[in-house]
Amino acid sequence: MSLQSCPPDRVCCPSRVQKRKPHVPHPPSPIPVSRASDSAIARLGILAHHCVVHFVYLIHLTRMLGARNYIGLTDHQIEHCNQTWEFLCGRLKRELDPSEAARHGSRTRYDERRRAVILGADAYPGTGQSANSRLSVLACLAHELAHMRRAERGFRRPVNPPDGFLDEAETSIYAAFLRYVPLRDREDLVEDARDRLFDWLAFPKE
Ligand SMILES: [Zn+2]
Repeated sequence: MSLQSCPPDRVCCPSRVQKRKPHVPHPPSPIPVSRASDSAIARLGILAHHCVVHFVYLIHLTRMLGARNYIGLTDHQIEHCNQTWEFLCGRLKRELDPSEAARHGSRTRYDERRRAVILGADAYPGTGQSANSRLSVLACLAHELAHMRRAERGFRRPVNPPDGFLDEAETSIYAAFLRYVPLRDREDLVEDARDRLFDWLAFPKE
């Protein structure tokens, strides 16, 4: 039986009754305590959400800025890329456009409209420690060839985060299965896929 339910003329809980202090009303509060705490928790939730978003973007900014090679490719490096591309493609010729490769900061990418891979400075590895920064020229071009082959087979995936990360992970795993990709590059591609999966998991989703 609780103290509050005891009838006023009975002392069924003497020890508790003796310790009972006279009621002192709390000063009036402009905001009920429950509402104030709910509001504080909501604000903390929003703050945590923003922190996570900025953290994820910081990771990607770091990777973009410092991970892979930034310096425009030399003629010799472009020729190496051309030979690697032909090696990967085998008898089925596909377009590798080197027109931007000598430019600092140019990016290697698959252009679905042109059905061509645009060669950029970042086809070469950089100094970062991530799997992506370590990818060799062959692994990088295998990843782009995988984009091309998946597009030819009708894959249509989102390109923006968060599901764009899943597309990139799938593409790197696809590349790891391409013929002529050595074990060392396969391992780097699988590690790259793993990192993209972590990116997807860490990205705030509704
Ligand atoms: Zn990609």
